[in-house]
Amino acid sequence: MIEIKNISKWYGQFQVLKECSTRVEKGDVMVICGPSGSGKSTLIKTVNGLEPFQQGQITVDGTSVGDKGTDLPALRARIGMVFQNFELFPHLSVRDNLTLGQIKVLGRSVEEATARGLQYLDRVGLLAQQDKFPGQLSGGQQQRVAIARALAMDPIAMLFDEPTSALDPEMINEVLDVMVGLAQEGMTMMVVTHEMGFARKVANRVVFMDQGAILEDSSKDDFFHAPQTERARDFLARII
Ligand code: ATP
Ligand code: MG
Repeated sequence: MIEIKNISKWYGQFQVLKECSTRVEKGDVMVICGPSGSGKSTLIKTVNGLEPFQQGQITVDGTSVGDKGTDLPALRARIGMVFQNFELFPHLSVRDNLTLGQIKVLGRSVEEATARGLQYLDRVGLLAQQDKFPGQLSGGQQQRVAIARALAMDPIAMLFDEPTSALDPEMINEVLDVMVGLAQEGMTMMVVTHEMGFARKVANRVVFMDQGAILEDSSKDDFFHAPQTERARDFLARII
């Protein structure tokens, strides 16, 4: 469903992605890990066209992301993305956050958008918070609203970039639980995270990056039990 082929990207002289290739099939849950600065965020953002790249090719469900003619807003509407810092619209209520994209981008009626938005809000356990503003919610609640907002767009895949790393420890699990549920329902997911418990529980693939390159692209069991590279072994030893 998502094919990443020989992607390279430079910031001036600095090569941030080095011939990265991998693919994600429908229903895959891919965890991407690696040291800070290894290019994880950059790679995941290339998938929905948030980061341009100079070489290689990415196709999502047959659409080539880097092509000039590609309708990036349309592509982004089909791929949900959840970031580290929630990124809800602060001046809109939770309910309006949930419906805005559905109305503006998908052309849904207010009634339909509200019904779907509240359905997902209920699913993340926050139906009672629909009239609040983001600033009135905890970080974990805001992140669950962000996930509900993405799901209400009926995405074909979900991208997560360290969705729990800005959260207080007691809020991490409430967000991970929602993600585990999604994974178990068969959502196609690419997840940048250091939460190896999550990876062990629901990932079927693990990608390890270092210095802009994909050093390991393995099944979960191979990654945790038989990492191929010294750097992945070092990383695992430090993180677990
Ligand atoms: P972290 O775990 O800290 O989030 P990461 O693996 O997500 O790290 P990236 O954010 O993808 O890493 O950054 C990869 C490298 O690219 C880093 O060395 C970073 O400093 C560099 N970089 C990122 N954005 C820019 C930019 N706009 N201009 C120049 N260099 C950049
Ligand atoms: Mg990052």
